[in-house]
Amino acid sequence: MDLPAEVYARVFEIGVWKWGIGFLAPLRLTCRQWNDIVLSTPRLYGIINVGRGYIRKQLDLAKSAPISLTVPSSSSIAESTENILLSTARNWIYADIPVRFLITIGSGNALGGLQSLHLHSWFLDSKGKEIPSDVFDNFWETAPKNLQYFSAMNAQCRSLRPLLTSSIIDLELHRPTGRDSDSLAQYHHYNYWGRALRPRLPLDLMCDVVRRLPRLQRLVLAHAELTRVLESSAPARILLERLEELDLTDIGGIAHLLSRLQVPALRTLNANQTSSDSSNVTWKVVFMQWSQEGWIPLELHTLEMAACLEAADMPYFEAWIERLPELLRLYWDAEDIDIIPMLKDGKLASSLRELNTVGYEDFDDVLEMARNRKGTLRVLSIPYCGECNEAGKAEMLSLVDEVKCACLTCQMTGMSTV
Ligand SMILES: [Zn+2]
Repeated sequence: MDLPAEVYARVFEIGVWKWGIGFLAPLRLTCRQWNDIVLSTPRLYGIINVGRGYIRKQLDLAKSAPISLTVPSSSSIAESTENILLSTARNWIYADIPVRFLITIGSGNALGGLQSLHLHSWFLDSKGKEIPSDVFDNFWETAPKNLQYFSAMNAQCRSLRPLLTSSIIDLELHRPTGRDSDSLAQYHHYNYWGRALRPRLPLDLMCDVVRRLPRLQRLVLAHAELTRVLESSAPARILLERLEELDLTDIGGIAHLLSRLQVPALRTLNANQTSSDSSNVTWKVVFMQWSQEGWIPLELHTLEMAACLEAADMPYFEAWIERLPELLRLYWDAEDIDIIPMLKDGKLASSLRELNTVGYEDFDDVLEMARNRKGTLRVLSIPYCGECNEAGKAEMLSLVDEVKCACLTCQMTGMSTV
């Protein structure tokens, strides 16, 4: 088969990302054509993973091609090698690097080509000293102007601000914190069960971060406790016109933030262990706000609610769902709150095509729901094998294209598809 060289080059590129630069050697021995393609595509050598490559040799072969640099947090790297890598910063398009690299670079002006930045090792510099939280505030002048994808692990939101540019469309923050001091102590803070405590993130700081990113299309937040400071310091409304995906895992006090976010283009909302804090600002407030004119995400098609809601939120949840004309998929997991009674008569969320729940629901109700939906439900995953007889099972299969049992036994034995 004769494919254009550019297609081969693209495939080789994917291979280098996956298996490292060693992937190229056997390719070059395969035939003259492939050898020529490898040698005439310097950007293949620009995919550098410290710890899986020959950095100096690779940089020679990469010439002035764009560089995608990965420096794992675990890798040890000689100072001289680090300096060589830093000298190529103007060619970076992708960088997954420790924070200390950015401190040395000192300005976003040197990172004009950078599209994707992923920061880790936030706490320690190369000499093992703790990095202060205002590290970028004092000297970092401009954010990288073409940055689109940004993620940070254990970052202090306060120090992120000078790096954030309005070109960012994708933001991921894992274990972000807002604390000015004590970050290292907090990082190592574990509770009695050995689970890391959620770092605290003041609401006004988080609002300030998203307000800087009007083009955001995807926001991922994981493991943090949003804390409310003075009510007046957080804005009442932040419009993110383009936000399509919100992914929240283990976030406390989320309603403080969500009830302020106006996200009319939202298509996917995944919320996991994302409950209210001890105050009375719960999901109920979010659903009330998101039911207002101009706030309803009319294109929302995928909704995951796992260990989020309480019984008192349910009437507001139901009223909100009623306003979502495009809802196709619902993943439901809530202790002691059944979802089927709400969906049983088939009127609410009539657009629903896929329903996944992990709680034990009354099988007769499930069957009635499937009947009332008149074949519109395509996929159903629910624990049911111990709950029904053969006739019930047969009727269920006649009503729904794909039925999976979500009970623990079926999940573990892989027998879940009927
Ligand atoms: Zn089962």
